[in-house]
Amino acid sequence: MGLFTENVLVRKTVKCEGCPLNTQTKVWGTGSYNGGIIFLGEAPGEKEDLQGEPFVGKSGKILNRALSEIGLNRYDNWLTNVINCRPPSNNFNSVEAQTALKRHCNRGLYEELDFLREKSYKVVVPLGKNACNALDLFGTMGELRGTLHEFYKFIVVPTYHPSYILRKGGVGTVEWYYWLEDLKNARSEYLLDVI
Ligand code: URA
Repeated sequence: MGLFTENVLVRKTVKCEGCPLNTQTKVWGTGSYNGGIIFLGEAPGEKEDLQGEPFVGKSGKILNRALSEIGLNRYDNWLTNVINCRPPSNNFNSVEAQTALKRHCNRGLYEELDFLREKSYKVVVPLGKNACNALDLFGTMGELRGTLHEFYKFIVVPTYHPSYILRKGGVGTVEWYYWLEDLKNARSEYLLDVI
């Protein structure tokens, strides 16, 4: 279980019965109830499935590193995923994952965002294309990043998924610095709101 087990209550009315991913561990969002930035990933991977917490594998490590570079940390913010269960072969586009998303998790995501809005969250950072799509943002990451968007009164700052940064070579690469730039923009939007 994660550090914040009460977060199980956030996606309150979602019914997992009948969902093709229902047998997997549910990996709920975790973080602070005091407002901050919401980081939205795709779906849990192997490590997350084992530990019941989002972003605890390789993607999580590089995300933690990027957050600490810009003076943020995961515990003062919120980490969650579009889908709460690990898809077969980690394939977000599998029939099972897409069915889970459309019939079950999508509604849960909206509920989670409503809950977080009430906790004074104003900024969402979708990590990668699939998370962007869940917030009705379509296009390549090259087109979406670098611009602010809006989704149900949230300021949305799209950026790359950590696994893309890892694939490109990780810390110190051009992509790494683009990533930090986007994360800093999200931090500025957050600070503009709280100061
Ligand atoms: N990738 C995601 O999108 N989410 C996780 O929690 C871990 C890896």
